[in-house]
Amino acid sequence: MARPQVRDDIAMMSGYHSPQLDVSIRLNTNEAPEPPPDEFRERVAAAVHDVAWHRYPSRDAAGLRARIAEVEGVDPSQVFAANGSNEVLQTVMLAYGGAGRTALTFEPTYALHGHISRLVGTRVVEGERDDDFALDPAEVERLITTERPSVTFLCSPNNPTGVIESEATVRTVLDLVHAVDGLLVVDEAYGQFAPWSALELVDDTNSLVVTRTYSKTWSMAAARLGYGVAPTWVVDELDKVVLPYHLDAAKQIAGTIALDYLDEMRARVSALVEERGRVAAALDELDVDHWPSGANFILFRPRSRSGAEVWRALVDRSILVRNCASWPRLDDCLRLTLGTREENDEFVSALRSALEAS
Ligand code: PMP
Repeated sequence: MARPQVRDDIAMMSGYHSPQLDVSIRLNTNEAPEPPPDEFRERVAAAVHDVAWHRYPSRDAAGLRARIAEVEGVDPSQVFAANGSNEVLQTVMLAYGGAGRTALTFEPTYALHGHISRLVGTRVVEGERDDDFALDPAEVERLITTERPSVTFLCSPNNPTGVIESEATVRTVLDLVHAVDGLLVVDEAYGQFAPWSALELVDDTNSLVVTRTYSKTWSMAAARLGYGVAPTWVVDELDKVVLPYHLDAAKQIAGTIALDYLDEMRARVSALVEERGRVAAALDELDVDHWPSGANFILFRPRSRSGAEVWRALVDRSILVRNCASWPRLDDCLRLTLGTREENDEFVSALRSALEAS
């Protein structure tokens, strides 16, 4: 008996991995360094205790959507919640991508935009950025006009570069996308760390989806919860496509209760933004280049040693950062997720000694 064959395009793919090593300081997956408040944990535990486990959960997660809508200042009909913002992206592509359609990314960016697009059979066109990872308006216009993508992805702040797209850029791209009857997705997984948000552009006349996550700001990567804010007519299509009861009861509870701790979470964001400035200033003093970040991580490149060597030297000092050194367009780059003040201090001194060792 021959094994069943997967689709040819999937046989060619490699999966998406973020290796974990046994180190004492893990600064490689852009998680929050601190857990949510204790009171949150206690309230979630008590509420989960009362779940009617024999029943399906709320199918439309109306309570959760309403709270997200309140926090983001939009209408509940403009909110689509899912298992991580990855599932929001996947649902968007199931609905708006597919065979015979094109998705446009600007590389380097979050690998899952292209990966999910391909998984659902969408052709992916990869646009380029300039050497500082900024968008080139002429290239953007050329690609949108000639390729007429069904879905165009931006990521602001961009992962893994940290670079923010300006409001003017997003407005320009939105106009171009409208001219080809496409949809613009702005991935704001790190949006709360940035000075402005494309959320303010979401309304029923703009073909714009902004995706956000509980995994970073809300210190809730374990919960797997994210959401998209989009025109009602987009949310209606996403609701048709996603599996019934995809959000389990415990997740809906955790996501709703979390939003009672806005002040605590904003304080965590401010602390990380402050750490970002402090670490960036420390990097200025070292033999590395780094890019201005609007996120909870910083991309840097050692000037005199290879990225792979420095990554290994950091691991030897029990610090794990993301090794992007062999990724296309990111030669020798490493990405540091900001941790606690103490972790960041340890990182800076380990990096200093790693750069000095030869
Ligand atoms: N978008 C970007 C840019 C990300 O970096 C991540 C997390 N790595 C995600 C989306 C997915 O986040 P989640 O599924 O945890 O919400």
